[in-house]
Order: sequence, then C-alpha cells, then structure tokens
Amino acid sequence: MKLNEIQLENDYFEFDEKFYHKINPTPLNNPHLISYNKLMFDEIGLDYEEAKNEDFIKFINGDKLLSGSLPYAKAYAGHQFGYFVPQLGDGRAINLGKIGPWHLQTKGAGLTRYSRQGDGRAVLRSSIREYIISEAMYALDIPTTRVLALIGSTHPVTRYYGVKETAAIVLRMSPSWVRIGTFEYFARQKNAKVNLTQLANYVIKNSYAYLIDDKNKYEKMYYEMVDKTAILMAKWQAYGFMHGVMNTDNFSMAGLSIDYGPFAFIDYFNINQICNHTDSEGQYSFNNQPYVARWNLEVLANSLKEICEVEKLHEYLKTYFHVQEKEYLTLMTRRLGLDISKSNDSYADLIISLLKALQTSKTDYNQFFYELTKCKNSDEIRKVIDISIYRQALNIWLEDYIKAREEENRDFTQVQNSMKKVNPKYVIKNYMLQEAIDKAEEGDFSLVNDLLNIAQNPYGEHKEYERYSKATPLEFSNVKLSCSS
Ligand code: AMP
Ligand code: MG
Repeated sequence: MKLNEIQLENDYFEFDEKFYHKINPTPLNNPHLISYNKLMFDEIGLDYEEAKNEDFIKFINGDKLLSGSLPYAKAYAGHQFGYFVPQLGDGRAINLGKIGPWHLQTKGAGLTRYSRQGDGRAVLRSSIREYIISEAMYALDIPTTRVLALIGSTHPVTRYYGVKETAAIVLRMSPSWVRIGTFEYFARQKNAKVNLTQLANYVIKNSYAYLIDDKNKYEKMYYEMVDKTAILMAKWQAYGFMHGVMNTDNFSMAGLSIDYGPFAFIDYFNINQICNHTDSEGQYSFNNQPYVARWNLEVLANSLKEICEVEKLHEYLKTYFHVQEKEYLTLMTRRLGLDISKSNDSYADLIISLLKALQTSKTDYNQFFYELTKCKNSDEIRKVIDISIYRQALNIWLEDYIKAREEENRDFTQVQNSMKKVNPKYVIKNYMLQEAIDKAEEGDFSLVNDLLNIAQNPYGEHKEYERYSKATPLEFSNVKLSCSS
C-alpha cells in the first residue's frame, strides 16, 4: 500500500467534546527521518519504499494529514506517585486516527489543551529510547505499544538550563491508548454513569471484544484488566524490566507497557533498584512494581463504582497476586531450564535464593540467564560464576541448581533448546541507548538503526555487537534517569 492510500478512521468523537481536544499537530522545523520500523510497515501493509517519500516525513511531522485523519488529544487524570492530579491528558501526543486495530499517535507533536506548563515536545534522546525499547519489549513477548517511525529536527528544546537539545517525534501505535487515568477522569465528570458506560464500551470494543454481549461485561472487563496486569508485572519482573513512572495515567487499559520514560532493564541485580532519579523514596523500585500495579488496579475499581458492583471487583482483585506469582514462577522456572510441569511453587525457594545470590555476587541479571543457557554440562554451569564480581553466594546457589538439574535428569541439549527461547543474548540496556543517543546527537543514526535490529532480534547473532551480550560495564550500570523528556 502507498501512503496516500491509507484511510484513517476515527472512533473517539462519539464522546462528549469535554473528553478530547480536536487539535492539529504543530510541525517541527527541518524534519528528517531517523528510522522506520519495517515490522510495523508490514503490520499495516505499507510499502517500505514509502519511507523514502518526502510525504512520509511530512506525515510523521504533522505537515500532511492522511485521508480521514482528524487529529485530537485525549483528556485523562491520574495518580502520580500516589497523589491525584485531576487534569492530565495528551499534553504532547496527538492522535491521528486508526488503521485496522492500530491507533496512531505522534509524541512530541506540539501543544494541546492538556499541555499544562509543558512545551508539547519530546527531546531526541527520550524519543530514541521509546522507539527502541518498544520493539525490544515486543521481541521479548512483553505486551507493549509499538512504533512506526522516528524523525528528528532542528527545533530547539530546553530541558536543563544551558543545555541545547532538539525535538523529535515518534509515531507510536497501540490497539488502545485508554489508561486507568482515563477512567478516573470520566468518573469525576458530570453524568459519570453515562460517560463511564460509554468509555467501558469503547474499551471493550477495542481490547475485549469477546465481552461485547456478556451481561456482566463491565465487571469482566475489570477482571481481564486484573489478569493482564498481573501477567504484565510477572513479565517485567522475570526480565528485570523497570518502568520508572508507574502512575495510573501510565497504565494501559489493554494491559500493555506504555509511556516509556526513565525505564531500565536492570543491569547488576538489585531487588531495590530505582531507575527514576526523581523517585527518591523508591516508590516505584523494582521490588515494588507488582504492588504498585495492584494499587493502581484498586484505583480503577474505585473509578468503576458507578457501573460495576465494586465489591465484586475487590473480590476479584484478591486473585491478582496468585496470577502474578504463578506466571512469574513459571517464567523463571523456564528461564532456568527446569520443568514447569512440576507443581507451581516447587522451585520458588530456588528462585528466591537465586535473586539473593545474584545480588550478593553482583551479577548482570540477563547475562546470567544467557550464560546458563550456553552450558552443556554441570561443569560448565559451575563456570558461569566467572561473570560474577563476587563469587561465594552464587557458587553455593549453582550447586543447588546443579542438584535440581540432576534430579530432573533431562537431556542437556533439549533443555538448552527450550532455554534459548526465553533467554536472549541481547537485552537493551540504558548504556547502549546512551551510545546510540550520543551518536544521534552528532547526526549519526546508524546505531539507532542497529539497536533497533538488535532489539527486534534479541536471540540472534550480531557479530559486530558481541560486547552488548556481555555484562554492562560497571561504570555505566544501574544509573538513574531523569523524568525530563
Ligand atoms: P509523563 O510523565 O510523560 O507520563 O507525563 C505526564 C503528563 O505530563 C502527561 O499528561 C503528559 O502529556 C504531560 N507532559 C509531559 N511532558 C510534556 C511536555 N513536554 N509538554 C506537554 N505536556 C507534557
Ligand atoms: Mg504518561
């Protein structure tokens, strides 16, 4: 398909106008294409050639609206670090319309009614980060929003006094951009019941279509959200992903990872790791993530009071940790190459002691699983210790692990083949993104594109980038990132 053959649809104007702002993007100066994502071109059936078309840049930049596009920004509210903020919204993201199941949104597309003190822009560094990590998450089977393309510009942006930066735009795609915070917003407006019903129907249509004819569909929408969020948290924890800003406005009603800001794939394992510089209390620390998500689901339950029997919702929420833990233990068991058909918590102690051992021995979390995957016998497993900075704790754990493997007595090659499917050679760490950003700021986008390729093929070989499969260099590990983006 050619770009000018795309026909965008709109499905948000059924709501009262107080819930959105019809606003066109404000284009950036001198836009240039940095990268486009072939996987999402394929997904919507767009010819790769179209990326070279001047109109493609104009489309991302908001200079050219595609047929059927009626841009708008959505209103939402949210609990930010536990405090309720009644008026948030797409302050810099503009929705362009929908193609198939994909709602297109350009982030950094200019001011909207919801921009508050912001400038409506996104800096190049944060745009590169969101662009690459979305695809890295997808490749690891962690539910996420996606991206189509990234453009840069000469448009100046100031985030830190005296530091000159330029603005960029990522075109993001999601089957839904509705957040828990959207429900919080609707719940606080006049005619809450009518509006919430309409919003819930919209969410069901987009994300839970199999519930359309269910007589308890609103309650069931909530149950689905609980399950999906529990699974998402299990996946984040199992792969050592930290979101950094787990506010309710950054929580997707489709159970996806959204709104990447100061995120991290943990380097050297530390259960209390904090990746967001402004989170001085560690409210959103690695260990807290599943608890925060549950708290956010409680906020959602309270926002659905008008249309659901809230006691039922609270009752269902009690199953959250059960689902989250079960999925987490299954994933971890699989990552360790142990038998997942055994009773669910049979390896719980081994997994918990692994986390302690990794932390004490200062070991790169994802590299550990990759090195373990390569082992062809027990002696090779013992040698995995060489990646740790301190040895004793992990040495002891490795002996326990070898015992478990020997008890299962499964064929090493077979185990290795199943481990290879869940233990990537490459995980996108912040230091890699920073290298790509440093180059991009000098006008060299090759590493952005190479990292995209690595992100999308984490189990493959990338000969030139062998060093990225090793532990994060200590001096670049576990850095905290700022929210400023
Ligand atoms: P975030 O922390 O990125 O999830 O953003 C929280 C809220 O601030 C959302 O409503 C954003 O749309 C808004 N926001 C963040 N940065 C900007 C910006 N540069 N301009 C306008 N609004 C922004
Ligand atoms: Mg956000």
